Amino acid sequence: MLVFVLGLLVGSFLNVCICRLPRGESIVFPPSKCPSCGRRLRAAELVPVISWLWQRGNCRGCAAPVSWRYPLVELLTGIVFLLIWRQLGLTASFATSAAFFAVVIIIAFIDLEHQLIPNRLVVLLSGVAVVRQIFWPEVPLGSAVWGALAGSLLLLALAVVTKGGMGGGDVKLMLPLGFYSGLPGTLLLLLLAFISGGVVGGALLLLKIKGRKDAIPFGPFLALAALVTALAGRQILEWYLN
Ligand SMILES: [Zn+2]
Repeated sequence: MLVFVLGLLVGSFLNVCICRLPRGESIVFPPSKCPSCGRRLRAAELVPVISWLWQRGNCRGCAAPVSWRYPLVELLTGIVFLLIWRQLGLTASFATSAAFFAVVIIIAFIDLEHQLIPNRLVVLLSGVAVVRQIFWPEVPLGSAVWGALAGSLLLLALAVVTKGGMGGGDVKLMLPLGFYSGLPGTLLLLLLAFISGGVVGGALLLLKIKGRKDAIPFGPFLALAALVTALAGRQILEWYLN
């Protein structure tokens, strides 16, 4: 329960990062404001999820709708923290894993909104992955290095073949994701990302929400696949091999 609440609070901070980082704004100052009317938010309006539900998704000052992304990111972070905790317990490995996926969530939602993956977030994510690998490794070093190389080279080849259908940001993002997941994990990760990306992309085309020319960001699918691989990769691979 405490881990879930911690995740909600961290998720609330991730929202600030998702909002401000693409605009080059500071994430510590100024305090949170309503983007429509600029009114500073009071403490009661900063309670994760509950404030949003209580205000029925509207700003108290100007009644402008507040994006569903806010409660979604908070809930998602809470659930992710809870699942990682169930797997790793309250350990240093949990802390680095939670930090890693917190950054992954920021990247996924920025990519979703702006179709871009900021380089410095990829650098930050790589830093977390390297620190984890040095002090609390979950996969052998060779496996991590091969995961990073195989994953990013595969996406690089796809980027070349599709002439930019796969973005350079995805290729770079794959380095820390592959390093974190290790080698068998990275292949599963890519497979899951292609399947989920294909299904969702196909559905968006069929429902005519997106046209054939529209870019659909791939980062969120890589992020989701990395999470599933981290939480259930071993079970999925064992099930598949049997
Ligand atoms: Zn407002």
